[in-house]
Amino acid sequence: MGFMNRKIVVTSGKGGVGKTTLCVLLGAALAKTNKKVVILDLDFSLNNLDVVAGVENKIVYDLADVVEGRCRVKQAIVEVDRNLSVIQSDRSFSDKVTGQNVRLLIDGLADKYDFVLLDCPAGIEGGFTRAVSAADEAIVVVNPSLSSLRDADKVVNILMQYKLGGIYAVVNKVRGDLSLKGLALGVNEIEDILKLPVIGAIPDDDGILLSTGTDVGGIRAARSIKMLSAYLLKGSGKVYDCERSFKGPFGRIRAILNKRA
Ligand code: ADP
Ligand code: MG
Repeated sequence: MGFMNRKIVVTSGKGGVGKTTLCVLLGAALAKTNKKVVILDLDFSLNNLDVVAGVENKIVYDLADVVEGRCRVKQAIVEVDRNLSVIQSDRSFSDKVTGQNVRLLIDGLADKYDFVLLDCPAGIEGGFTRAVSAADEAIVVVNPSLSSLRDADKVVNILMQYKLGGIYAVVNKVRGDLSLKGLALGVNEIEDILKLPVIGAIPDDDGILLSTGTDVGGIRAARSIKMLSAYLLKGSGKVYDCERSFKGPFGRIRAILNKRA
């Protein structure tokens, strides 16, 4: 059987919204469904995929080594979990790491993997262009804040100029307790603002903040990631309801405790 060959850039405009974290957690969830996944760190200046994936001690060769011919592709692929690998980038990349060279590498990987996830830098400059040019689909990660939505809107406008097969949004760090009270934007409102299909909603969860590697500490966060992975695989599905656990008598108690924490 052939591979799915999906090349997906994970982007946002704004930094710190959870691109790298989602690459790792989504990649791990897809890998658990028996899909072969490789994540590429294309954030050359703030390259931290290896740390987020928990494999920083295993990196010997990086993406620049591949592109500049110092090693084979295979040598730069570092296994994180069964079916899940990463290729790390390094700050000291040279002129040879052109968009075209990176695209060639990614196309080669797509023949051997179901999913090639591209961890994109913040901003809309060269590194962003390089990542988007090599992708067929884009996931725009947003947080429910006005600054994040403003940046995402700019990114979406640029993404529209590429011939992508799909542009989707994932809302990350959702505070269901706040949106339930009307104090923060809800996932549906964000979908209306961005005019993009929201394929996942991930709660703001200490389990994610404090976890390393592919473990998701919190049960709710783990469930939301699994649903995102299922949606991406099928092209349709349900989005995790981040408000649900704050509804009802126990939910209200949970919301009060959340406020105190
Ligand atoms: P980016 O790659 O977009 O710059 P990161 O993935 O590095 O963002 O995430 C920034 C910070 O936010 C990290 O400390 C990460 O653990 C945290 N984070 C990401 N997603 C969540 C979440 N759903 N809940 C809590 N913390 C999160
Ligand atoms: Mg990052």
